[in-house]
Amino acid sequence: MADDRYQGHDYYLIDELLTEEHKLIRETVRSWVKQNVSPIIEEYAQKAEFPRHLLPGLGEIGAFGPYIPQEYGGPGLDQISYGIIMQELERCDSGLRSTASVQSSLVMFPIWSYATEAQKQKWLPRLATGELLGCFGLTEPDHGSNPNGMVTNFKDAGDHVILNGAKMWISNAPFADIAVVWAKDEEGTIRGLVVERGMEGFTTPTTHGKWSLRASATGELVFDNVKVPKENLFPDIRGLKGPLSCLNSARYGIAWGALGSALDCYDTALRYSKERIQFGKPIGSFQLQQKKLAEMITEITKAQLLVWRLGVLKNDHRASPQQISMAKRNNVEIALRTAREARQMLGGMGITGEYPIMRHMMNLESVVTYEGTHDIHLLITGMDVTGFNAFT
Ligand SMILES: Cc1cc2nc3c(=O)[nH]c(=O)nc-3n(C[C@H](O)[C@H](O)[C@H](O)COP(=O)(O)OP(=O)(O)OC[C@H]3O[C@@H](n4cnc5c(N)ncnc54)[C@H](O)[C@@H]3O)c2cc1C
Repeated sequence: MADDRYQGHDYYLIDELLTEEHKLIRETVRSWVKQNVSPIIEEYAQKAEFPRHLLPGLGEIGAFGPYIPQEYGGPGLDQISYGIIMQELERCDSGLRSTASVQSSLVMFPIWSYATEAQKQKWLPRLATGELLGCFGLTEPDHGSNPNGMVTNFKDAGDHVILNGAKMWISNAPFADIAVVWAKDEEGTIRGLVVERGMEGFTTPTTHGKWSLRASATGELVFDNVKVPKENLFPDIRGLKGPLSCLNSARYGIAWGALGSALDCYDTALRYSKERIQFGKPIGSFQLQQKKLAEMITEITKAQLLVWRLGVLKNDHRASPQQISMAKRNNVEIALRTAREARQMLGGMGITGEYPIMRHMMNLESVVTYEGTHDIHLLITGMDVTGFNAFT
């Protein structure tokens, strides 16, 4: 990949809305990414390999559970800091951000919110440092957008339960030490439990052949009569609100993160437009190329304001799931559009690994699908504003 010459873009002086701490965190993560990830990410994506050696570094910069309190090993930062970290990671690669999102919002968040004190002490500090990697099992082969239909289930067997079923499309699964799994009990109620690598009957086959998120490991979780001790069950949380609260936290991070990809594509295309000469002039001097850049920075600026405001609401515990859904859908959509336009601006060079745009574009095809597809988020907003359920 060409040198990482990324500089942030702040057309509306939104930095004035950030604290000095926010800016320091951004600088720290950006320089860590430039030093440790930018030089290798293209190679790992091409090889479809997960850069596992980065886990301790991600822990050190606070990317695992940024808002988890210090008593459990997290840095105890606010929600805007969490968003900024996700943005800087995804500015480099959505797969890198996915690893951190899953660990933070889909593994540490439910343990912090729903686990017993002993469970929190057992797992959170080691997840925060990256010593342990976690994954989150909700989606099943026959139940994606409709997780309520899940068939993975467990039966009471004294001091343990017996878990059966399968989860599909699970980020981090092939390397995860623990899995937060959502399954139905004998009454058909959804419960959360932690399954640990090494438990008999638990396997995590890798999903091969992805053209997207190639530097993030994806796999299945297969449970064949797995004996899970009852102390691994979350004691009180019941129903879909458990996993949905995790998705809410992750979607918030994705809204910030996808904007990182958009910024990187814009930054690359803007620089290229000034350097690439055709017909004796930089291509950036042609009106059609300026139209693309003008539309990109306009949408990026709107998206930056959206996530900043959402972060303020989230810090105040006032961000509704519907508001988060809107930001996830909008920001991934504008990132995808930015990537597609930016790729065209680089001509043939746009399809190569010399530049990050094609990788961002392919990654975003997963981001627009996971954590609720674009269409499902449209339905959430539609239901919120009309009061009518158009899902079924
Ligand atoms: C790379 C990757 C990583 C992932 N990581 C995880 C993970 O870590 N953990 C996890 O649990 N899951 C994960 N997922 C799964 C992801 O959340 C699902 O793929 C997603 O929820 C969609 O489910 P599905 O693929 O089964 O599509 P489906 O639900 O089958 O949807 C297919 C199409 O139908 C549309 N559709 C569905 N219902 C409706 C409706 N009522 N009205 C209109 N349109 C509808 C959808 O919008 C979509 O376009 C991951 C997916 C990918 C691709």
